Amino acid sequence: MATILDGKAHADRMLEAVRLGVEARKAKGLRAPGLAVVLVGDDPASHVYVRNKSAACAKVGITSFEHRLPADTAQADLDALIDRLNADPGVDGILVQLPLPKGLDSKRALHRISPEKDVDGFHPINQGLLLEGLPGLRPCTPSACMSLLAHHGVDLKGIRAVVLGRSEIVGKPMALMLLEQHATVTIAHSRTKDLPAVCREADLLVAAVGRPGLVEGSWLKPGAVVVDVGINRVESLSLGEQIFAAEPKKLENLKTKGAVLCGDVRFGEAMDVASAVTPVPGGVGPLTIAGLLTNALMAADRNR
Ligand code: NDP
Repeated sequence: MATILDGKAHADRMLEAVRLGVEARKAKGLRAPGLAVVLVGDDPASHVYVRNKSAACAKVGITSFEHRLPADTAQADLDALIDRLNADPGVDGILVQLPLPKGLDSKRALHRISPEKDVDGFHPINQGLLLEGLPGLRPCTPSACMSLLAHHGVDLKGIRAVVLGRSEIVGKPMALMLLEQHATVTIAHSRTKDLPAVCREADLLVAAVGRPGLVEGSWLKPGAVVVDVGINRVESLSLGEQIFAAEPKKLENLKTKGAVLCGDVRFGEAMDVASAVTPVPGGVGPLTIAGLLTNALMAADRNR
């Protein structure tokens, strides 16, 4: 039976480190870090994320500023808000909540954020620094996954790591961070031939695909470490019966509640093959906010 890598517990450790960092700033007479969150439109999931981010800021002593704009906001007005926040000395970090409503160009918005305040780590300057192995603000989800692996003593040197997914947000930066730690990295995606065979080579498998239960237990190398970044909502009972065959409790929840969250990996099956697995929920999900606030503190310490 694999060990469960508890993301919530590690997120709490990361947040405590941020809280102490904020305290240390205050002890030196410096102000609390300021994080501005820009939310455009009324995507319900984005509203929940923004609420959770503000609550987490309050817990660790970071000042959060929420800027809510209507869905029909013009790109020029979004640009103007970002420019104002870039120039505001009380704002150390700026986050534009994605997805933006149709008609707004998210790349343009993300590229307009000053790299020093880019706490999501999506600006090309920060992505370039990561590529060069230089310090900078790095994407929150993969850097928090790295922190989780380090905490659990996973030795990455020389191992075969497979990253499923090649997004700029998770897959590509995760692969670069693993490479930096001397893993031999394969990036797989929707065009990869014989995905199960590629996965079976992995001592460490990171799944960031967004397909519920794509990775079966038989795709895993015995003893592999599995980091499941995917967060998927499953409502279909027939799909649930297929992917939760080794998770009777999850299947029961699906039947009673009508929907459940799950990862890209079949957790119940992975528990029988792998040596360590992150659950969904309670794995990588809580780590992302902790990574974001770690970045906000780092940005503030650099800005003073
Ligand atoms: P994207 O949709 O941007 O990327 C998905 C990647 O998966 C693409 O590279 C795509 O390949 C690949 N892919 C899709 N289908 C398959 C398939 N059948 N086989 C192999 N590869 C496939 O997603 P994100 O990276 O933004 O997010 C991935 C997942 O992680 C989502 O479930 C998301 O909700 C979750 N997530 C969770 C976070 C957290 O806090 N835990 C934070 C961020 C994301 P191709 O490039 O060829 O299209």
